[in-house]
Amino acid sequence: MKIVIASGKGGTGKTTVATNLAFLLAREGLRVAYVDCDVEEPNGHLFLQPVIEREWPIEKPVPVVESQRCTQCGRCSKACRFGAIISLPQRTVVFPELCHACGGCQLACPAGAISEKGRRVGTVRAGYAGTIQFLGGELDIGQPMSPPVIRALKETPLEADLVFLDAPPGTSCPVVETLRGADMALLVTEPTPFGLYDLQLAIRLVRALSIPAAVIVNRVVKDGEPFLQWRQRLKQLPVPVWAEIPESRAIAEAYSSGTIIAQNVPEFARELQPVMHKLKASIDEGTCRHQW
Ligand code: SF4
Ligand code: SF4
Repeated sequence: MKIVIASGKGGTGKTTVATNLAFLLAREGLRVAYVDCDVEEPNGHLFLQPVIEREWPIEKPVPVVESQRCTQCGRCSKACRFGAIISLPQRTVVFPELCHACGGCQLACPAGAISEKGRRVGTVRAGYAGTIQFLGGELDIGQPMSPPVIRALKETPLEADLVFLDAPPGTSCPVVETLRGADMALLVTEPTPFGLYDLQLAIRLVRALSIPAAVIVNRVVKDGEPFLQWRQRLKQLPVPVWAEIPESRAIAEAYSSGTIIAQNVPEFARELQPVMHKLKASIDEGTCRHQW
């Protein structure tokens, strides 16, 4: 079962939730994998401290134009939605950084003038953190597109009952790539107006992809009317709330020291228990209960 930990907003605690759920469920004997798909700013390894056993480069296929064959017909330029190939009167130019490696221009070329060449975009690392299988991706500096690295991560075979995919923040292409094919999304948010707004975007995204979802609210301060109003608005959204993790100095200190919080703060592990029960029930049933 593939569970994506996502949120419309950065800094809500996705990695905290993903690494701690992976730790707690592995401790209960499940075969668990953690995959860090936030390849622009990976940080899951800081908490899990995996022993890396192998790493390999990731390439994306970009078009190469054979000038002797090219007739400057312009069909490749028309086919490309990203402005990554332009047919000029004298030659046809490719902009590899803009290329999404879709292969459309090659299909559109009537002269067979386009072939593909691999271009390095990042690295994947694999290892173990205790019994947790670890996979982490890292986009090369200067590369603008992370989906090829995320795709490579997701294509790497894993032997696990439960795979946690730690998504990048936001709701754009890298998140869509991470969510594609997932069994469920856990959306982490914080009790602020920004958190709620970005959560709504994330809900629209998972709904469009028909992926069941539940919400985890992080850093909850039950300080009277503002929080009650916020929670009221949250309840109107079409997703169940599986946990509310309180704001706590002990949790913040454990996080800041780069440790697995659930190992040191029992209160934090307790808050994640309902989530673990629901995930385990989903595995037993072979499906996620909440559907759109
Ligand atoms: S492979 Fe796709 S994105 Fe890249 S240049 Fe060709 S049409 Fe454009
Ligand atoms: S479609 Fe092929 S032949 Fe036409 S401009 Fe592009 S590369 Fe040249």
